[in-house]
Amino acid sequence: MRRFACPTCQADLFFGNLSCLRCGTEVAYDPQALALVTVRGRTPCANRESIDCNWLAAAEGALCASCAMTTVIPDLSVPGNLLRWRRIEEAKRRLAYMLLRLDLPLVSRAGNRLTFRLLADETRSDGTVEQVLTGHDNGQVTLNVAEADDDRREAMRLGMGERYRTLLGHCRHEVGHFYFDVLVEEGGRRAAFDALFGNPDQDYGEALKRHYAEGAPERWEDTHVSAYATAHPWEDFAETFAHWLHMTDGLETAQAHELSGGPDPFAPGPVEPLVEAWGRLSVAMNAMSRALGQPDLYPFVIAPGVVRKLGFVHGLLAERLRAAA
Ligand SMILES: [Zn+2]
Ligand SMILES: [Zn+2]
Ligand SMILES: [Zn+2]
Repeated sequence: MRRFACPTCQADLFFGNLSCLRCGTEVAYDPQALALVTVRGRTPCANRESIDCNWLAAAEGALCASCAMTTVIPDLSVPGNLLRWRRIEEAKRRLAYMLLRLDLPLVSRAGNRLTFRLLADETRSDGTVEQVLTGHDNGQVTLNVAEADDDRREAMRLGMGERYRTLLGHCRHEVGHFYFDVLVEEGGRRAAFDALFGNPDQDYGEALKRHYAEGAPERWEDTHVSAYATAHPWEDFAETFAHWLHMTDGLETAQAHELSGGPDPFAPGPVEPLVEAWGRLSVAMNAMSRALGQPDLYPFVIAPGVVRKLGFVHGLLAERLRAAA
């Protein structure tokens, strides 16, 4: 992500800031200008007060482009749900920042709109629990709001033997399924996709069942970015798509803070120089994490077989970057 400054006093501000801590100017993120601007005289998102959304909206009383994608919010009469909603929207704005910058369509050619439902498990009158499964279906992303609770998300991560589980990671993964539909299926890239990821027409339900029963095959790291990516070519694409966003956001952030030089993450061309720069950076980041007694920031190794898949995603996305208006 880029670096932001206060429009009044130029102090460093974060993407999510509502005001400048130095001079008090109230700010909002303008997705057209890719900058934090002063709120006065502009129209903030209608969710600014309730969940601290700091984006601008197109009109008075309207939602911003990110909040507008949410069609179902959790039941706010349930204690904790306001905070869960706020955390999920915070992660989603970081996702939306990149989707808008890449000028990615939010509606497929088939007419499916990218939307989010934020739902909680429900206990029925007979005491059984109706579980909400996080997933994607024709543009509709469903997120279980329990993922916003650090203790529950960490318990799920450990239970599933995962190396990494975050709200932002969920957002990036689930929209990866939507962009498979938009950029690969509708974009006429199936032949190239199948050659790298395998044929996705194999039964999805059966594939997941097999994955949960047997786990990932031996040496999956040679060809897949995560164990879960081995479950089905759709999951492989969604995982790879998410990692391309992790990598480009990570590289852009590092460059914005002068932590690394290196190639422009969004320039068209081969992906290898990016992966190399990202590899060096993530080794340094992980060493820093360990120096502070924290778990590795990026607990992944990108093998050559994964680089080729990242290259496919890079080919779909790199040329799309939109300059600031
Ligand atoms: Zn300021
Ligand atoms: Zn908003
Ligand atoms: Zn998935």
